Amino acid sequence: MSQTIAKSNQTKRWQEMDAAHHLHPFTTHHQLAKTGARVITHAKGVYLYDSEGRKLIDGMAGLWCVQVGYGREELAEAGYKALKELPYYNAFFQTTNPYTAELSQKLSEVTPKGIDRFFFANSGSEGNDSAVKIIRYFWNLQKKPNKKIFIARKKAYHGVTIAAASLSGLTSMHPQADLPMPGFVHIDCPYWYGEGGDMSPDEFGLKTARALEEKILELGADNVAAFVAEPVQGAGGLIIPPATYWGEINRICKKYDILLHVDEVICGFGRTGNWFGSQTYGIEPDMINMAKGLSSGYQPIAAVGLGGRVGDVIFNSDEEWSHGFTYSGHPVACAVALANLEVMQKEHLVEKAGGSTGAYFQKKLAELGDHPLVGETRGVGLLGAIELVKNKATREKYPSELDVGYRCRVHCFDNGLVMRAIGDTMVLSPPLVISESEIDEIFYLARKCIDLIARDLGVL
Ligand SMILES: *Cc1c(COP(=O)(O)O)cnc(C)c1O
Repeated sequence: MSQTIAKSNQTKRWQEMDAAHHLHPFTTHHQLAKTGARVITHAKGVYLYDSEGRKLIDGMAGLWCVQVGYGREELAEAGYKALKELPYYNAFFQTTNPYTAELSQKLSEVTPKGIDRFFFANSGSEGNDSAVKIIRYFWNLQKKPNKKIFIARKKAYHGVTIAAASLSGLTSMHPQADLPMPGFVHIDCPYWYGEGGDMSPDEFGLKTARALEEKILELGADNVAAFVAEPVQGAGGLIIPPATYWGEINRICKKYDILLHVDEVICGFGRTGNWFGSQTYGIEPDMINMAKGLSSGYQPIAAVGLGGRVGDVIFNSDEEWSHGFTYSGHPVACAVALANLEVMQKEHLVEKAGGSTGAYFQKKLAELGDHPLVGETRGVGLLGAIELVKNKATREKYPSELDVGYRCRVHCFDNGLVMRAIGDTMVLSPPLVISESEIDEIFYLARKCIDLIARDLGVL
């Protein structure tokens, strides 16, 4: 929200309450308190509305999650029905409920082949912390208690709880909480545009995949528990792996008997044009983590899906498994997630993201490549990134003090578009229900705002 625009008293009241008492995720609080937080009051389809009546087109589907768009009656009705019939019961004490049972069954149908047992959590972070415990337990049961080191990647985002943040490779997340914990290490990621230099994408894909092999050999395969990775790295800057990358990772994990835990929190549920990113990239996961699109964000819910190797060992263990949340398999969250998946199937949203809608989105994204400030555009399905650079030929970036991406994002908000900035990479991840004319609107506004920041920088 532009600071110069007058605000209603109601907006000011909410902003004051918020500034006084609400701590936000990833925020410098005293700075936000000066301008006041944007107050979003309602949403419909692909549009958000703020407390000043301004309309924004949501190029980020909330936080990569609102696959079916806002204001879907089917999801609201499903939640309301569950709230009336069974607002809460737990899954401890040999108990289940219809919603959790049916969602588990549905997930076994839509997730990659072989993934067929599901543990429910309430956020992607909890899913990854649960996965770390599952993997440790698995190797303990296998009588290989030394296999404990987790290898993840630089620029990875796996969430904020202690183990998830340790897996994350965004270094700014670590020092405040003395992370990563011991036993979590990070290797290079396949960020070809930024780090590939003169190599071809395929060469660079192989090189960064083989960094996993080098790390395993350095640590000793007998000490390594798992490799953990997103199919496409999201919050680290939308890093799309070269075609050679994942096949090599599959091979290395198998050769050294390292579990492959794939974090599908963003890529799951159609984002890359298939139900899961693992399918788009031919990944062979032992287990996956999912959240975000699972309920289109309408309810907090996550799930860790286990393939046969890990799932059978956990399932057949004679010990009681000492893990689980009060809200694991929450009936309302499961009911809403189930309705969400039914809408996605009925409206063929995954097929559209992998077909006509995705193709149209990628075509419009690529057209931005001609802009003097745009070094590269890249995308897959309904994910897109636009790298803003100083020099297209050398890929040189602007100095970080200039905050080019952040300032572009401000122009976007001021002009009615939500487009995220990750450094100087602008990122789009719209709802899967988006229409072609709405895609046109996003790219019209995106170009306008890139023009505005280019003008600020004296490029145009
Ligand atoms: C968002 C995200 C998470 C964390 O999910 P929360 O629900 O915010 O805890 C984990 N992994 C990936 C890949 C994500 O994008």
